Amino acid sequence: MEAIIISGVETLARTLNETLRLDLTADQQRAFRAYAALLLEWNAHTNLTAITEPAAIETKHFLDSLTLLRAVRPTAAGLRVVDVGSGAGFPGVPLKVVFPHIKLTLVEATGKKADFLEHLTRTLGLRDVKVVNCRAEECGQDAAHRERYDLALARAVAAMPTLAEYLLPLCRVGGQCVAYKGESAPQEAAQAENALRILGGQLRQLVPIELPGVAETRYLIVIDKRVATPERYPRRPGIPAKRPLS
Ligand code: SAM
Repeated sequence: MEAIIISGVETLARTLNETLRLDLTADQQRAFRAYAALLLEWNAHTNLTAITEPAAIETKHFLDSLTLLRAVRPTAAGLRVVDVGSGAGFPGVPLKVVFPHIKLTLVEATGKKADFLEHLTRTLGLRDVKVVNCRAEECGQDAAHRERYDLALARAVAAMPTLAEYLLPLCRVGGQCVAYKGESAPQEAAQAENALRILGGQLRQLVPIELPGVAETRYLIVIDKRVATPERYPRRPGIPAKRPLS
């Protein structure tokens, strides 16, 4: 595979090669460079990220999003992936850049962020990406989305018992949910045990992740969808956060 280094994403290209055995093509490097530029441009007027230093964008946004590969390699053609609370596109968009054959849905409740996602995916020329400007609780009760995804992802959206009620209704039986978490992951996973059971899920594994230059250990919480989620879940918007299943 081509491994040309384009100025601006050198660290990302090298680290992906060393840590995840991924070689970015020249086009993918161009896409990440354009992504970073667009993120900073929009961040000047829309609150998208507190991380604005180029090397930190590469590590804490792009590389972190791609650490999914430590748990799941989304290589199957047409794999249906949903990213809930996508914000500025993390983790879904970096995954789509590297795995262009996935069918990606980005669910984002805030209108301005959804506008950014539309603009971003159009500018990067990404096909098979849908931006849905709604709450996860609404999507989870919509037949167009309910139990339609092979892989349901979220980073930095809610505590695990609440997040389970966002993700599991979207995931098909036999699929997986992955939550990107910080050091609280083991505790959050334990707290969500009953919520997972109620919603048809089961904890598969906790994968510790070390990012270069980041002191905190991060984790991927991987959940298997074992049986269909009861119809009453997700509850009305706001209720999963206000009264998490316990
Ligand atoms: N996932 C991105 C990341 O890691 O950079 C964004 C994280 S940001 C802290 C949380 C995002 O989740 C916000 O953009 C917010 O609007 C969105 N969000 C929170 N609750 C949501 C819900 N119930 N449904 C859809 N989006 C939600």
